[in-house]
Formats: sequence, structure tokens, C-alpha cells
Amino acid sequence: MKKIEFNLYNVKKVHFGFGKIKNLNQILNKNIKFNYLFIIDSFFKKKKVIKTIELKKKNKIFFIDTKNEPTTFGIDSLLKRVKKLRIKFHKVIGIGGGSTLDTAKAISNLLSNSGSSRKYQGWDLLKKKGIYKIGIPTISGTGAETSKTCVLIDYKSGKKLGMNSEYSVFDEIILDPDLTNTVNKNQFFYTACDTYIHCIESLNGSLRNPVADNYSNEALKLCREIFNSKNIKSKINRTKLMLASYYGGCAISSSMVGVIHPLSAALSVVFKFHHCISNCIAFKAAKEFYPLEFREFSKFVKKHKVYLPSKICQNLTKKQMDKLYYSTIIHSRPLKNALGKKFKKILTKKKVLQLFKSI
Ligand code: NAD
Ligand code: ZN
Repeated sequence: MKKIEFNLYNVKKVHFGFGKIKNLNQILNKNIKFNYLFIIDSFFKKKKVIKTIELKKKNKIFFIDTKNEPTTFGIDSLLKRVKKLRIKFHKVIGIGGGSTLDTAKAISNLLSNSGSSRKYQGWDLLKKKGIYKIGIPTISGTGAETSKTCVLIDYKSGKKLGMNSEYSVFDEIILDPDLTNTVNKNQFFYTACDTYIHCIESLNGSLRNPVADNYSNEALKLCREIFNSKNIKSKINRTKLMLASYYGGCAISSSMVGVIHPLSAALSVVFKFHHCISNCIAFKAAKEFYPLEFREFSKFVKKHKVYLPSKICQNLTKKQMDKLYYSTIIHSRPLKNALGKKFKKILTKKKVLQLFKSI
């Protein structure tokens, strides 16, 4: 039997179920002397759910525009605005999709660790635990609610890389499937596929462990039930997806993604595609590494009439080619997980560009 070895970092408190968003006011009222910093997707600016939050004087809300995914520059600018308030915040609360949850995690981390967010992109670089963080996802699939990373793009260096650290795990999460009702169908599918892709990459990799495998298998079972059903957004499917996303995030915390994520990250850096749609596009490029899973995924795309852009890498400039290659190959850990230590022999520049041209 292969040696079993892994480290697990879990969210401490989980509130799960329809209507659980109401628990937020109980949390706020428990410590009335605490100051809370809210980071909320701007989609919710005028929504009823936000109006019901009981705010005190020193609680502050920052609404986040998620048109672009979080960048190191954007996080550093937001941090400056938060610090300018000169308020000692006790808890940071993120309400939104993966972009907003990652922003909340990054701000929480940087309120305790000095310097730019760029300093902490990588593995185990944070020195101290951040401010107590609460995550409330409003779209399911990335697993950001349970994972130990917050992904940031640095356009200067061409890196799309997270602050991978035990300190990036939320302390508490509220999972309320009521909140995902308003997500449009294509977006719902793309983000749901992130769970599917995390789990198939994890199960096909070498850095596996029994806990991650179990989480992945359970998440995949739920994804298949959702994607094989008629209405992926039904009440029961939104509940199932919130569970699957939770499991997927737990799985990936102690295992690793594979070839799709590095290719997807490169597409995000060069063409600014959001993570989840980018994964769906990159899946096609990586189909030779996951042939059975790609066939199943294509069936789901067809069944639910999901829009996916194609032929985006037909007329690349030299600069774009260089960036696509560099931004893929920089992800050595997932690539080693999928292809072994000598992954660069398989993914030569010619091969990487050939994969991109195939989409
Ligand atoms: P997102 O946060 O980028 O949001 C996508 C769109 O959905 C936005 O337009 C947003 O306004 C909208 N939206 C969110 N909730 C909604 C709701 N309830 N109703 C209507 N619209 C809603 O979405 P995402 O796909 O969850 O997140 C992608 C981000 O997550 C990327 O930045 C990616 O890098 C990151 N990510 C992080 C991890 C992690 O472990 N930390 C893992 C995977 C991806
Ligand atoms: Zn992902």
C-alpha cells in the first residue's frame, strides 16, 4: 500500500440550508462591540437580502465589481481604502461568488500580514493568521468557501496564483441555496463545472489521499445527478451543488488540480476569461489527458445548450503565444501532479501552443 500522507485544514463552523442567511444577524449581534467589514458582490447592492443585514456605525460595506477577477493591484488598492478608515475590524464577511470570497480572504490575510498581496502568491508564505473570516457564497462550484487559497491575477508578471495557506481558510461559512437562485444559467453551469473539473483532475493525479478521493467521488456523484437532470437550477439541484462545491473545495485543499487549470489560467491572463468559463474552454484543449471525462462533459454542454466560445487561439501574436506558454508552464505543482516531474518534456512550447490552437 502506498504511504498515506496529507494535511487537512477545515472551516470550523458551517451553517447549511435554505434560509440560513438569517444566521448572519445572530452572528453580528453576538458581539455587538465588534466591527465588521463586509465585502459584497455589487450585484447585491439593491437586493433585499443585503437590506436585512443589521449594520452598526463602525460596520463598513465595500461593494465589489466582479466584471474582472481579483488582481493583486485591485486587492492592494482596496486594502489601502480599508486601512484609510482607521477602524480595527474584528471580522471580515464576504458575500458573493468566488471572486468576492477570494477578495474577502485576501483582505483578511493582508490586515494581519504586511506588504503587497504579490508577496504572498505561492505556497505557505503568509506568516500570521488573518482577521476572522466568514464566507457566504451566492453561486456554487469554485469551492472557494472551503479551499485554502484565494486566487489573484498579477498582470505584470503574468501569474494567476493564489495565497495557498492554512490561513486562507474561512473560519465560518453560511451555505444557503436560496442565494443562488438569481444566477443566469450559463454562469451557473460554468461555475458548477469547476467542481466537476477540480474533482476529475484530483482523481487523475498522483497527489491523492483517501479523504480527498472520498470528497471528490461524492462531489462528482452529485454533479452527475445535477447535469443529467432537466433543470440544473431546480431547488434540489441548487442544494446538491452547494454540497458538491463544499466537498470539491475540501478535496482540493489536500490534493491538487491537473492540466486543465494551468491552461485555463493562461487563457485568463491573456484573454481575461473568467476562471470557470475559461476552464470549460481549456477542457477541450486538455481532452487527450481526460478523454472519458471530456466526452461526459461535452454531453452535458450539449444537453443544457450551454454557450462556449471557440476558435479563440487561431490568430495569435508572438507575444500572446509566449504569454500563453509561460502562464501555463508556471503552474508546476498541478502539472507535476498530472504528468510527473518531467512534465516539461510532454508540454513543450510547441505542444502547449498546439493544444491552444485546437480550441
Ligand atoms: P464570480 O464571483 O466571478 O461571479 C461570476 C458572475 O456571477 C458575476 O457577474 C457575479 O456578479 C454573478 N453572481 C454571483 N452570484 C450571483 C447571484 N446569486 N445572482 C446573480 N449573479 C450572481 O463567480 P465564480 O465563478 O464563483 O468565481 C470565479 C472566481 O473564483 C475566479 O476569480 C477564480 O479564480 C476563483 N476561484 C477560487 C478558488 C478558490 O479555491 N479560492 C477556486 C476556483 C476559482
Ligand atoms: Zn477551479
